[in-house]
Amino acid sequence: MPGIPEKKSILDDLAGRGLRLTSQRRAIVETIQDAQGHLDAATLLKLAQKREPRVNRATVYRTLDLLKRLRLIDELDLMHLEGEKHFYETRSKSGHFHLACLSCKKILEHDTPTFARLKQEVSDETGFSIDVVRLEVGGQCPACRNLSGGNSPLKDREVL
Ligand SMILES: [Zn+2]
Ligand SMILES: [Zn+2]
Repeated sequence: MPGIPEKKSILDDLAGRGLRLTSQRRAIVETIQDAQGHLDAATLLKLAQKREPRVNRATVYRTLDLLKRLRLIDELDLMHLEGEKHFYETRSKSGHFHLACLSCKKILEHDTPTFARLKQEVSDETGFSIDVVRLEVGGQCPACRNLSGGNSPLKDREVL
């Protein structure tokens, strides 16, 4: 169904599945849930340790695996902006584009009604029920376009 999905708490979801969380895992889940942007595993570890100092790297990866398996989070490579680094965000967010600036590595999010229409159209034409869409765009953000003299975005991209 189009429209913004109800924001569901990952913790509630896990509790509903009868999964008990250690304080470490809870700290990791809460960190992902409260994050505004996109976290990589190293940043997630650092932030989660502020809530629960005993959180370690292995627990972060095991928890990310669990959340991925349960389809509660998305794993994004974001145009491989930072090499093999992957980024995580909760599934409860509505669909959005990720615009990756290949110059300053900033990630912008953009949502437009066209996104929902596109999903609807693909679903109508294929009969496919769509749960998740990933749309990533690589290019230059407005600030970087200005820095590089701006007006010829196509030429700028050829540098790549
Ligand atoms: Zn930029
Ligand atoms: Zn996002």
